[in-house]
Amino acid sequence: MGTNPRYEILFEPVAIGPITAPNRFYQVPHASGMTNALPRVRAAFREAKAEGGWGVICTGACSIDPTSDDAPLPFATLWDGNDIRAHALMTEAVHRHGSLAGVELWHGGASVMNRASRLPPLSPSGIPWMATHVGFMGNLRPKSMDKADIRDVLRWQAEGARKARTAGFDIVYVYAGMGYLGYEFLLPEYNHRTDEYGGSIENRVRFVREMIEVTKDAVGKDCGVALRVSLEELRGRPGRNQPSEAHELIDLLADVPDLFDVKMDSSPTDCSASRFTGEGSHEPVIDFVKSLTKKPVVGVGRFTSPDAMVSQIKRGVLDLIGGARPSIADPFLPTKIREGREAEIRECIGCNICISSWHDGVPVRCTQNPTAGEEWRRGWHPERVERAARPEKILVVGGGPAGLECALTLGRRGHEVTLADDGRSFGGRLAFEKTLPGLSAWNRVVDYRLGRLNEMPNVSLFLESRLGVDEIVDLAPERVVLAPGARWTTMLYSSLEIPVGRLDGPNVFTPDDIAAGRLPQGPTLVFDFDNYYMGGVLTEHLAARGIAVSYVTPAGQASAWTIMTNELPLVHRALAARRIPITTLHVLKSFDGETATLAHLFTGEETHVPCRSVLIVGLRLPRDELAEAMNARADAIAAAGIRSVDRIGDALAPGAIVHAVHSGHKLAREIGTAALPYRRDTPIVDAAPLTEARVAAE
Ligand code: ADP
Ligand code: SF4
Repeated sequence: MGTNPRYEILFEPVAIGPITAPNRFYQVPHASGMTNALPRVRAAFREAKAEGGWGVICTGACSIDPTSDDAPLPFATLWDGNDIRAHALMTEAVHRHGSLAGVELWHGGASVMNRASRLPPLSPSGIPWMATHVGFMGNLRPKSMDKADIRDVLRWQAEGARKARTAGFDIVYVYAGMGYLGYEFLLPEYNHRTDEYGGSIENRVRFVREMIEVTKDAVGKDCGVALRVSLEELRGRPGRNQPSEAHELIDLLADVPDLFDVKMDSSPTDCSASRFTGEGSHEPVIDFVKSLTKKPVVGVGRFTSPDAMVSQIKRGVLDLIGGARPSIADPFLPTKIREGREAEIRECIGCNICISSWHDGVPVRCTQNPTAGEEWRRGWHPERVERAARPEKILVVGGGPAGLECALTLGRRGHEVTLADDGRSFGGRLAFEKTLPGLSAWNRVVDYRLGRLNEMPNVSLFLESRLGVDEIVDLAPERVVLAPGARWTTMLYSSLEIPVGRLDGPNVFTPDDIAAGRLPQGPTLVFDFDNYYMGGVLTEHLAARGIAVSYVTPAGQASAWTIMTNELPLVHRALAARRIPITTLHVLKSFDGETATLAHLFTGEETHVPCRSVLIVGLRLPRDELAEAMNARADAIAAAGIRSVDRIGDALAPGAIVHAVHSGHKLAREIGTAALPYRRDTPIVDAAPLTEARVAAE
């Protein structure tokens, strides 16, 4: 199939200063958790997207000097020759596919704590960036930059730009967003300077202008120079000669960079979760940029629909379609559009597990794309799998995320696959969870896989088929994969996090009860120590059904782990909008049908809360009856010719959907083969000839 003529505009080249992007698909810089310590992991991750048709591939924030040190968060550096060589692996990989490579040179200013380098953070006026995110907190306040400091940063930027060019980058960034140094110069709250760098917008823009100018001088005609700038806050400030200071900034710099990369100001709005925001959410903030500059403009908005992309271009909002998450979820998104295979796009679900990886300090993980970050380590290609040497008859029991992914990958390998689920629809936990507030986009995990499975002649799908050992023996497959999931329990824990047994009773509920349509009666207390989305979202769900509900957690915040996925502020806002009382730092001790007894996590002081029902969102344990029954009848299994029985997903180790998908994919790749080695990447540590040879051989 060819390109739909409606989408041909997406494949037009776009000039970025002296260079030309081959199409409008632009993978903007995004954190990947892949530092220079993982150069091959990083190169392979970025290469997959170039191979998949993204015209520009950028690496994530790349520090220009040890005064910009984000440790322990994973960040890249361009400080020395080893760094150049580490990045060169990525640029060479990207160039192999005809794409351009970009680098986001970065100085974190007051937002970094320089925990490793122990240098004073730099800032326009000594004003700290008061991060409320635990992982970002620190005690070191920044130094006010004097003129010599400004000259130093300009010099580091120029040196960084030259190193970037040597490393083979085609696009070099100046970064003035997200609380980092350039941004701090732009906002008067951070910038109290009385010299030519502070005061009027013209003066506040000066540092950013000079950063662009030194970058251009450094790279000459070899590279395009991009400005990445956050406009949310400035757009809200009236300008003197323009509707807002954001307009004034773009007007003042209209001819200076070769490309504007425009975005929001903080991670929760910039990279917002689908639970709270839809596709194209940046538009109201960045829609004016093209009216003030002739330079190309790139922006993001979790674009996965080609119609939405075309609309952005035709309406004059963007020239290049920026993608971070959509490119992680489907590195081959552009190719699929070019080949008229839109239905095969593995659409990002907006869960932000990818962001959580960065907060965790590890290489990127993706719910939709289990191969993300595994391209080099495990040799997993996002689109290709190795055909099985001998196709086998494989039965997968359970059609949740793990079973669906496993069946799909086994099918692609050429096996004869039967997927059976006892439910009325496929999706497992998602069959219910997709109906919860804000979670409908998550069902893309199911839609994508079912869509492909339905096209495969070697895969048979069965619903409403509860399988026990007898049925499995009758089917006599060569291999069995068990994916029956997990169930929520009523287990409670002490304040020392020691299990204290189950809280049973007629009015004690778990999320499985709610999923089965059993709703609590009367005022209900939700006790959440799972800490991810389920407690918060079920609280909203019950409130929406008119049930008086309160939320209690031993954590310091509601749905505490969602700080990792940028959702936490919005979870609190959603609960506040429904006027749901939140009690933090308390454990549930007992419930007698009329009163729940809570104890303060640290003081032990007890509180008695009148309520009729309790919903415990806590521990999940595998549904392991089937695995145990299979084990108990090992002889019958062997006699039926079944060579292996494996468990995957929540049935193996309960987790988030991302874990289930990865688990299903891994088994499908490895079944019937020797387990593939888990390759460990190493930093490039010197420029000795021996190393040169080794790197060249990679
Ligand atoms: P995971 O996240 O690991 O994929 P889920 O709980 O989402 O797990 O999905 C498991 C699916 O398996 C559910 O739809 C469940 O109803 C189904 N299931 C559980 N036991 C059986 C069984 N014995 N036969 C068929 N389907 C089963
Ligand atoms: Fe999208 Fe979730 Fe994958 Fe991130 S982890 S790219 S948000 S599907």
